[in-house]
Amino acid sequence: VTGILGHLRQARAFDRASPEERRRLVRGKIERVARTALERSRRYAGERGAPLARMLAAASDDAFFSAFAELAPLRKADLIADFDQICTDPEVTLARVAALDAAHPNGDAVLRTRRGTYNIKKTSGTSGKIVYQVDTLASQRTIMTLLIERALVRTLTHVGGVAMLVPFPRRARLVIFVHRGNRSVYQSATSQGAPRWARAFLDAHIVEHDASLDEILARVERVKPELLFGLPSRIEWLARAQAAGKLRIEPRVVFIGGETFHESFAQACTRAWPHCAIINTYGMTETKAIATACPECRELHLCEDIVHLELLDERGAPCEPDREAARVFATSLWNFTVPILRYEIEDRIVLLADAGCRRRSRRIRVRGREPVFLWTRDRSRTWRPLDGRLLREALLGLRHVAGYDVVHDGPRSLRVTIVVEAGAAASAERDARACLERFVADHGCALDDVLDEVEVRVVDLDSWNRQGGKLQSIRSAVTPPELAP
Ligand SMILES: [Zn+2]
Repeated sequence: VTGILGHLRQARAFDRASPEERRRLVRGKIERVARTALERSRRYAGERGAPLARMLAAASDDAFFSAFAELAPLRKADLIADFDQICTDPEVTLARVAALDAAHPNGDAVLRTRRGTYNIKKTSGTSGKIVYQVDTLASQRTIMTLLIERALVRTLTHVGGVAMLVPFPRRARLVIFVHRGNRSVYQSATSQGAPRWARAFLDAHIVEHDASLDEILARVERVKPELLFGLPSRIEWLARAQAAGKLRIEPRVVFIGGETFHESFAQACTRAWPHCAIINTYGMTETKAIATACPECRELHLCEDIVHLELLDERGAPCEPDREAARVFATSLWNFTVPILRYEIEDRIVLLADAGCRRRSRRIRVRGREPVFLWTRDRSRTWRPLDGRLLREALLGLRHVAGYDVVHDGPRSLRVTIVVEAGAAASAERDARACLERFVADHGCALDDVLDEVEVRVVDLDSWNRQGGKLQSIRSAVTPPELAP
């Protein structure tokens, strides 16, 4: 068992290693997960596990990674349908996990079996089905240690605020915003999931988004946090409140994650808190932290000792720098309970060229979770792609709009939710419909040529808070059969 200092030393070694050296270190970590999956996961008992056996027998790193590339990808649908086959502890079944989760809606459920003590996290897919992720508390604490060292200790060292971590006369205060979708993740991360050393110097407060905006502002004002963590859309609301004189806090570092980072967010934050550092993070419930922003270049660097990310081009070869990966697979290096091997990620990720940072791990930029195309079908049954990025820009350009959520769940159906500032609801629906008409017209067709049903729902900020959920999101469940993988 590696202690805290051991993990911190390893994290530094990883981040400073040369590409070849890091590849060798990553191989060692993938091997541990591969061995567990091969020995204990029924999903890999037959032919599907053959590449795992070849990986474990490989003499060279090249042979290892080429066998790894032959392993069938894992998809979100597999995690839902094959949970019991994937899970390495026979006492942990989907039925048991779902029942326990239902009995502990706050996300503090702990599952104990003869093999281990587990925590349950969940996230919902585009289809609305719930994906559960089960992991040991010990693994979670290790990951938190690796993450806090990078995101917090190194950032504070860089901005000259590391003295904040001396717990006298009081600990640094951290406010974490949770909403319905991620509550289980942070509830457990700050209680049992947090390493003891982190609890010793951080005073974490969970603020739920179900409260009204006024209540949230009052709570944040009382806590006066030095550190904030939340979805950028929600932190932006705080920044606006500060600019309007309704909030007076002075955070040193704002950590954001869960939504795409847009420059408009950074501007709003800097206006409200000129001396505050903004640290972007990128991760997902299934794999945990994938990347954190580097204080030197401000871009995301992969946490390669937590998740192994494959960024591939159309031919399946490693992606060149400054190119957007055609396919992305993530392998979690710490989950031995529900092995996540070559998990297919839909996010659009660009590999960035080396910028000479002290942190040597690969740099990425996440371009957004919006799909490149929303595939619609016109009356002659011809597929017509609508540009996802243009839609984002069109919606962000609407006046008084604080956020949007778009679901494209059938070729001819679009559901748009617009979150507006108080008092702007009256004209918002009309403006949004006009905006959608212009957006479709820019593709050379009329709205009713390609869509039967366009639902526009207008919600005010407070109601959205209570309801929860991510914003600035466009999800499409439609792929023309000829393009399906
Ligand atoms: Zn950097």
